[in-house]
Amino acid sequence: MTELTPSAIVATYFPGPQSENEVGVRAEVEAVLDSWFNWRKGLFASDPTTAPLPDQNAEVLRREHRLLSRRLNELCEALTAETPSYSPRSMGHMKAELSLPALLGWLAATLHNPNNTTRESSKVGTLIEREAISMLADMLGYDRSQAQGHFTSGGTVANFEAVWRARYRLDHWLSLALFISETTGEPLDVFAAAHMGWDRFRSLWGAHGLTDDVLRRYSAVASNPPEVFRRISQASGRAYLGPVVLVPGNKHYSWRKAASVFGLGEESFWSIALDDQGRLDLTAFEGLVFRAKAEGRPVLMAVSVAGTTETGEIDPIDGLHDLLERWEQERGWRIWRHVDAAYGGFLCSLLGGLDEAVLGIDLARALGAIGRADSITIDPHKLGYVPYACGAFLTRDAGRYVVSAFDAPYLDRPEMGQDKWSSTLEGSRSAGGAAAVWLTGKTLGFGPAGIGTLLAETIRSRRHFQAAVSRELPFVRFLEPSDANIVCFSIAEDGEALSSSNRRTEALFEAFRTSDAFAVSRTRLGVDYLAQVERHVARYGGAADEDSLTMIRCVFMNPYWAAPALRDHLVQEYIELLKRFANQDLPMTTPDDKPDD
Ligand SMILES: *Cc1c(COP(=O)(O)O)cnc(C)c1O
Repeated sequence: MTELTPSAIVATYFPGPQSENEVGVRAEVEAVLDSWFNWRKGLFASDPTTAPLPDQNAEVLRREHRLLSRRLNELCEALTAETPSYSPRSMGHMKAELSLPALLGWLAATLHNPNNTTRESSKVGTLIEREAISMLADMLGYDRSQAQGHFTSGGTVANFEAVWRARYRLDHWLSLALFISETTGEPLDVFAAAHMGWDRFRSLWGAHGLTDDVLRRYSAVASNPPEVFRRISQASGRAYLGPVVLVPGNKHYSWRKAASVFGLGEESFWSIALDDQGRLDLTAFEGLVFRAKAEGRPVLMAVSVAGTTETGEIDPIDGLHDLLERWEQERGWRIWRHVDAAYGGFLCSLLGGLDEAVLGIDLARALGAIGRADSITIDPHKLGYVPYACGAFLTRDAGRYVVSAFDAPYLDRPEMGQDKWSSTLEGSRSAGGAAAVWLTGKTLGFGPAGIGTLLAETIRSRRHFQAAVSRELPFVRFLEPSDANIVCFSIAEDGEALSSSNRRTEALFEAFRTSDAFAVSRTRLGVDYLAQVERHVARYGGAADEDSLTMIRCVFMNPYWAAPALRDHLVQEYIELLKRFANQDLPMTTPDDKPDD
């Protein structure tokens, strides 16, 4: 089989910016409807029909049909004012065109409306979900025969799923240690206990002849949290302040929500400083773990990010895992490792192919280390080109997937049958996203020859844009590095103060907003990004006289950037627009202009 080029993938697997694939899509949608209607007609064929209606109802029926068709028309008309995110001009958010396998897979499943909460309400949908999760597991570097997971409404809930499980695990270990301390009078070492690992847990469990019923009384999850905290304080001889969550400063706001939802308290949410590349700083991470240890506070989980929401940065996931695996061996600390790969997880599809070179060695290593995590978040509704709402949560194996109270057997526990309801935060769940992922995996594929080829091209498009703009407009200052297919830039003359540059970038954003030609977004990199902001400003000799950097953000995930003629046309138009905005609407300031506030 000859390998598909990016433009061949675009021509085959997407509707086309000018609806180039209209005929084919209509035919496939019709085939999906044929199958659905034939299934219905064939199944209970001898049951009486609801037609015909008595004659006097025929007029009523026609009237109602006309109403439906009029209102549907109205709805379709209204929707034409919707954000045209199918177009590459729409580059403000992590939202782009839907792929055809995703759209058709979603449609085919949705017609049957399975509810993946149980096998009974989703005989086929649950199997499709299993297979689709295996495909994602494979791409992410998990062993597909071991990995577990399910689809969620998005990355936010998938991140919550991780916190839920990490808390379950930590709570078990700490409860057991509290039991031992209270029964033997040995002082409790909270930090060591909370990271003891299942092997040690099992041997202590056996040695003390414990039962679930007993351990429940020592659990801050199964019993009363303030009461158990008080006893932990007593047993350890110091006030127990609860666990901390370590999340890099480039975090998505879903982590703050998680701290709030799980009642951890925002204080327990410790931000890991970023280096001057905007990535998790390993030394800062190490410092926080030792601070937690010194304060007798367990680390509930260590989060790293593959593809940050603001700038697409990829943390040194390999370095973090090296460190934590060394600590596991040398110190026996088992700290839950979660990778928030909501955006960047699909970039793993480049690994192992020729396009891996597009990433460079460091990023390839970081992405290649995702599969060493305890759990992973990935959003098919971002770089998977799948309809909303479709996120996914995966764990390395069944043991890490388990979450339950004490009253169910939880050791060496195989996956809990086919029914997911007890292990998902959400109740009823659609099979639409799973089917969209499944059909994408079975056609385009999640490897280097499939979606990897396309995503590599989105990174090249981002670079092409950056090079073209830099050549013509030296006052456009791109944030470096740019790991994925997102760029951020500010505008600044040589030596311009940050405050002045921020004002002008802001005005440029307003100009974009009123022009309609391209939809871009704006981001402000604040104190978490201090080192990176200082480096950015220093590159053009500016002064960092404000503590946040305002940037225009452009996401190049749209598949149609892979079409050379369209790309050249759009990049040129973008440059012309920048020139016009910069010349007319944004008078340049001199370097020694003082900010007026
Ligand atoms: C988008 C995103 C999320 C949240 O995902 P939703 O699907 O919007 O809930 C979490 N983390 C990162 C890094 C993201 O990019």
